[in-house]
Amino acid sequence: MTKNILVVEDELSIATLLKYNLEQAGYNVDIAHDGQTGLDMALSLKPDLLLLDVMLPKLDGMDVCKEIRMHKMNTPIIMLTARDDEFDKVLGLELGADDYMTKPFSPREVIARVKAVLRRFSPQVVAAQQESAEKIFEFNGLRVYPDRFEVLLNDESLEFTPKEFELLVYLIENKNRVLTRDQLLSAVWNYDFAGDTRIVDVHISHLRDKIEENSRKPIFIKTIRGLGYKFEEPKAI
Ligand code: CA
Repeated sequence: MTKNILVVEDELSIATLLKYNLEQAGYNVDIAHDGQTGLDMALSLKPDLLLLDVMLPKLDGMDVCKEIRMHKMNTPIIMLTARDDEFDKVLGLELGADDYMTKPFSPREVIARVKAVLRRFSPQVVAAQQESAEKIFEFNGLRVYPDRFEVLLNDESLEFTPKEFELLVYLIENKNRVLTRDQLLSAVWNYDFAGDTRIVDVHISHLRDKIEENSRKPIFIKTIRGLGYKFEEPKAI
């Protein structure tokens, strides 16, 4: 199935270049030239992925990103930023972006990044994985289906951004082990964030807000002072 990508970019030359190269790579591409149109199109077209410029007329990329997440859309978002933008990448990721790329980028880089992000969240991949034995993690009312991108807490479905979900699954796969912020950073974010571990703390706090009954007294995700975090398997009740 052809994937649909929405490019929100006000610079015509960049938008055209992205459209051309993505179409060459076999994607369907729609373009919006300002943030408000981009948001409207994202909500109505429900694309498989969004390439979202930060500096946009009418509504900036950060606000578009925030609005999309407020509408409970989990569409992966790659933010596009100029090198001299005062773009706080941590804030961007906090608002729900999954990745970002700094201009100028080569078409090859963009395609590679798009493919990587889509591979992670492709429903076909999810479906294929579901047909083989499905993996489920279950702890005291918390059920995590890593292949389905689904988390249930006491049978209620929770909304996660892709990065929050990846972080949760990584913590669970390494349960009862202390993981440093740097380990989490390189496992979940891979690149570009060397040294900037605030993003880990921000995501941990989002996870706790969602899965812990009392995020100040977490039973699942423990802080190990001076070291990092640990997902602790709670004692069966
Ligand atoms: Ca721009």
